[in-house]
Amino acid sequence: MQEARVRRKGQGPERTCIGCGKADVREHLVRVVVGPDGEVAFDLAGGTFGRGAHVHPSVSCVEKAASKGLSRSFGMAVRCDAASLCQLLVEAADRRIEGLLSSAARSGLVVIGFEAVDTALMREDLALAVVARDAGGCSSSRSIQKAVSEGRAVAWGTKALLASLVCRVEVSVLGIQSAKIGASVLMTCRAADGVRSVSEVR
Ligand SMILES: [Zn+2]
Repeated sequence: MQEARVRRKGQGPERTCIGCGKADVREHLVRVVVGPDGEVAFDLAGGTFGRGAHVHPSVSCVEKAASKGLSRSFGMAVRCDAASLCQLLVEAADRRIEGLLSSAARSGLVVIGFEAVDTALMREDLALAVVARDAGGCSSSRSIQKAVSEGRAVAWGTKALLASLVCRVEVSVLGIQSAKIGASVLMTCRAADGVRSVSEVR
């Protein structure tokens, strides 16, 4: 299959979803690649060579991709059920976010801890806040809630995982100061959240 590359006035390049069949901007879709042996993988960083297709990170589009979209697009029998496909997407997203966060930390582009994040949010000096899913109380603070509603904060990972990525003992919340990394984390996190409930039921 040829990856659809249509450029419309005033928008970025578009791709066609192999689930619903609709064209959409690249940022709303995730890229999926199929190896010669039929192995499916998600290419969220966009660096994997080979033939690819795109799908909306939603349960209904992933289900349609699993049932026939993948096989039709790649012209071969791709055997991957919807739950496995959701699971692969969540795992790929988690790995990508881990990589993005540790690279932001290595570049000194993170602030750590509730007070530092709160201050940076108030100064509008933060691309994205990442709150551990097991953070408890601090995630319900007004500044964090407001940031979530404005798309400037996401809930992801655990305190222990965030800590390991930035070489600390325990981290409930951290902030990303790079606009580019913040945008990638937000997009990846939303893609995973679109299918996460399904992969966790499994
Ligand atoms: Zn779709």
